[in-house]
Amino acid sequence: MNWDKSEKWYDRAQGLIPGGVNSPVRAFGAVGRHPFFVEKAQGAWLYDVDGNRYLDYVCSWGPGILGHAHPRVVEAVQRVCAEGLTFGAPTAKEVELAELIHACVPDVEMVRLVSSGTEAVMSAVRVARGFTGREKIIKFAGNYHGHSDGLLVKAGSGLMTQSVPDSAGVPAGYAASTLTAVYNDEESVRVLMEENHGQVAAIVVEPVAANMGVVPPKKGFLEFLRRITKEQGVILIFDEVITGFRLALGGASQYTGVHADLYTFGKIVGGGMPLAAYGGRRDIMSCVAPLGSVYQAGTLSGNPVAVAAGIETLKILMEDPGIYERIDRRAQTLAEAFRNVGLTVNRAGSLLSAFFTPGFGKREGWVENYEDACQCDRKAFAAYFNRMLERGIYVAPSQFEAMFVSDAHAEELIERTCEAIREALFGILGN
Ligand SMILES: *Cc1c(COP(=O)(O)O)cnc(C)c1O
Repeated sequence: MNWDKSEKWYDRAQGLIPGGVNSPVRAFGAVGRHPFFVEKAQGAWLYDVDGNRYLDYVCSWGPGILGHAHPRVVEAVQRVCAEGLTFGAPTAKEVELAELIHACVPDVEMVRLVSSGTEAVMSAVRVARGFTGREKIIKFAGNYHGHSDGLLVKAGSGLMTQSVPDSAGVPAGYAASTLTAVYNDEESVRVLMEENHGQVAAIVVEPVAANMGVVPPKKGFLEFLRRITKEQGVILIFDEVITGFRLALGGASQYTGVHADLYTFGKIVGGGMPLAAYGGRRDIMSCVAPLGSVYQAGTLSGNPVAVAAGIETLKILMEDPGIYERIDRRAQTLAEAFRNVGLTVNRAGSLLSAFFTPGFGKREGWVENYEDACQCDRKAFAAYFNRMLERGIYVAPSQFEAMFVSDAHAEELIERTCEAIREALFGILGN
């Protein structure tokens, strides 16, 4: 493979864009190379500017559950574009999308559309604070909730990959009101709740963590969070920006049977366009302006083009619920291929991560939290990434990201990937 044109674009990009990328996870620093520049994508395939083709398991970091450029979604977007790109006034389509979200996740009794997952979680936290009149929040190490100041503490993959625990530029005051617990560790939550009795507005959690690699909740963990928040009048926020419409049509609350007070969505809900949402209990969401006193606004919120992409994507998912069974089964096949060569695999539905845990290739390790994930061998991961890329398979350039399976990843593509996994890991694992 040749990457000459990507190299040229990368040089030009670095002169003007910090690190040459508009989001740090896109840099390939952790895997010792420069990023390729994408020209186009179709279905499961990504094409770069040098004409190389990759089977894509990043799927734009989550939105691409249907594969790239699904004809129905593209057509819906093209149709509305011709009628105007933004109005800053209500449209019928926004109501339609709100109704679809509510139909998929009935707990969402009221919903606000915003433009990014970051905005959704930031706003949900503000609403929880406004509703409870309390200031502190509890999050979990290794969970990512976007890059807003108060949530950028031990915030998972992007920072883990760059080996910076916390971002510079976040005022100490913000960080002080964010308490950090250990994922899957009830005692760590209990202690923080006791030490800060009556001061905690919300617990915000990825119900299935997917930003330190995939880390499913242990049996009883989410139930515990539900119980302790209810007992102490704390708002439970499920950040479903990845898991929403991915683990099931109803997201993690359907997949796990545990229900939150507020939910945040992004990625899939926008069908590939910049759109996200937060919502939940009617009494809490009634705090949002202009109905209530918590201010939250957006010039491009509910943008008609983004809304059209979201509506069409959700409609396709609702019309063909067999999608979930298919992508789960394919992810299962990939998980087995990794396990067969001795890697530790966590999987939830169509999300999976293969971890190079200590002693990889020799025995099964486990990853239940941030500390466990940090033990993984990043060098071995980088070697694996590069060998997969040379075989035309693009996995996320970080040990701490999920592998996303879409409906466009047909069985024979999965088989091809399993073969590449065996080849790529041969030698690295010494088997
Ligand atoms: C991606 C992500 C976000 C942030 O969404 P953006 O659209 O990138 O701002 C928030 N929470 C979780 C769980 C995510 O995976």
